[in-house]
Amino acid sequence: MTGSSTQSEIDQRLVAALRRRNLRVTSQRLVIHRALCSRIQHMTAEQVLGAISPSLPGVSLPTVYATLELLETLGLVRRLATGSGAVLFDSRVQQHAHTVCRQCGATSDLDGAPASNRAFARAADAGFAPDHAQLVIWGLCPACAAQVRAA
Ligand SMILES: [Zn+2]
Ligand SMILES: [Zn+2]
Repeated sequence: MTGSSTQSEIDQRLVAALRRRNLRVTSQRLVIHRALCSRIQHMTAEQVLGAISPSLPGVSLPTVYATLELLETLGLVRRLATGSGAVLFDSRVQQHAHTVCRQCGATSDLDGAPASNRAFARAADAGFAPDHAQLVIWGLCPACAAQVRAA
């Protein structure tokens, strides 16, 4: 969770990562990274655009995508393919599994050792150089499951 980080800590992470690669620190990059770290944890590019528009009017969706891709390259954000609709961007980069509700799309983190660790190790055994694995569990969230039971 990034909930315990202050805004300046969040900014410092980005500034350090940009400087390591001799990339410019721009307000656009700072604001987009802040939005990802301080709001709901899994966001689509459209949601990021909606969150930053009040402070950065005029920024376009392609710019948001380009910045998200840069943040991904810098290791500050992970792309999460939930298999249903838009790609989500996750500011929690440590390995973790997700649950995705097939009815409402709610995406949550699942703590604890993900089962994908074993597949990850097998890939390494096979001579593959893995860098990360994703485990997504589909089903119904508690609210949607309750609705189904009530119907
Ligand atoms: Zn649901
Ligand atoms: Zn996550």
